[in-house]
Amino acid sequence: RERWLAKLTSGLRKTGSSISAVFGGTQVDDALYEDLESALLMADTGVKATTYLLDDVKRRVKDSGVTHPVAVRNILQEALAKLLKPLEQPLVIGQQQPTVIMVAGVNGAGKTTSIGKLTKHLATEGASVLLAAADTFRAAAREQLSIWADRNTVEIISQEGGDPAAVSFDAVSAGKARGKDVVLVDTAGRLPTQLHLMEELKKIKRVVQKADATAPHEILLVIDGNTGQNALSQVKAFDEALQLTGLIVTKLDGTAKGGVLAAIALWARERQEASPNLRPVPVYFIGVGEKLEDLETFNAREFAQALLS
Ligand code: GDP
Repeated sequence: RERWLAKLTSGLRKTGSSISAVFGGTQVDDALYEDLESALLMADTGVKATTYLLDDVKRRVKDSGVTHPVAVRNILQEALAKLLKPLEQPLVIGQQQPTVIMVAGVNGAGKTTSIGKLTKHLATEGASVLLAAADTFRAAAREQLSIWADRNTVEIISQEGGDPAAVSFDAVSAGKARGKDVVLVDTAGRLPTQLHLMEELKKIKRVVQKADATAPHEILLVIDGNTGQNALSQVKAFDEALQLTGLIVTKLDGTAKGGVLAAIALWARERQEASPNLRPVPVYFIGVGEKLEDLETFNAREFAQALLS
C-alpha cells in the first residue's frame, strides 16, 4: 500500500507540482486564488469542479481565519478529499453467482490490461473467474485477452468472428454451469464502420440479462486518466447509454491531468442528486502502471494527498 502511494505520488507529480507551486508565497490574496484557479484548470479539473473547489476553499479559509498559503493548501486538500470521498467504494462480489461484470471503454484506454489486472486481483481474493471475449471484431483483442487469461490461468470464452452478444450469453451460461464466481465480459472499444458502438453494448447488456435476469451486476467503464476532460465526456456518454455502476481510471502514473478525478466526483454527485434511484458510479480501481499488479483500490484521502504533494 505504501509502495502504491509513493508510486501514485510520483505519478501525479506532473499534476501536483503546478498546483503546489501556487502555495509558495507568503500572502493569501486574490492573486493566490487566481493562480490556484489556473493551476486547477491546467490539471484538467474543468471549470465546474474548479469553481466548486475554489468556493469551498475560500469559505473554509474565511471560517478558519488562516492567513498563510500553506494552511490554504491543507484546506484545499481537505476540500478535495471530501469531494472525492463518495467515489471511494469497494467492488463487492459474491452476492450472486456468478457476478457478471461487463467492461467497456474506448480503444487504448487500458481496458484489456485492466481486465487482466482485475482478474489477478479477484483470483488473489479467491474468486474463480471466467473471461468472455465479446470484442469479436478485432482478432488482436481476442488474442490479447487470451494472453491475460493464460497469465492468470483462467478460462476464456472466445469465438472468432462470432456475435458479441452471443459470446456474452454463452459466457454467462457457462459461468453458471461451471460455478464461477465472476464472469468478466470484455467488450469492443471501437467497431468496424456502419455499426454503432453504443447500440452494440446495449445489445450485449440486454442479452446478458436474458442469460441471467439479475445480470450484468456491474457495468464498468475504463477511462484513460491521462486524457483529462475527454475522459469525463466518455463517462457521460457511456453512462447515458448503459447506466454505469463503476469506473476504472488508468494511467495515473505520470499524468498532468489528475484533476479530472475532481470533475468526475462532481459529475457523480450531480448525477446522484438528479437521479437518486440510480446506483452511484464509484471509482473501484485506478491503474498506476502496465504490470499485472499495478491496480489499486481508490482512496480519496490518499489521492488528494498525492495530488497536492
Ligand atoms: P485497450 O485498447 O483499452 O484494451 O487498451 P490496452 O489494455 O491494450 O492498453 C493500451 C496501452 O496502455 C498499453 O500499452 C498498456 O500497457 C497501457 N496501459 C494500460 N493501463 C495502464 C496504466 O495504468 N498505466 C500505464 N502507464 N499504462 C497503462
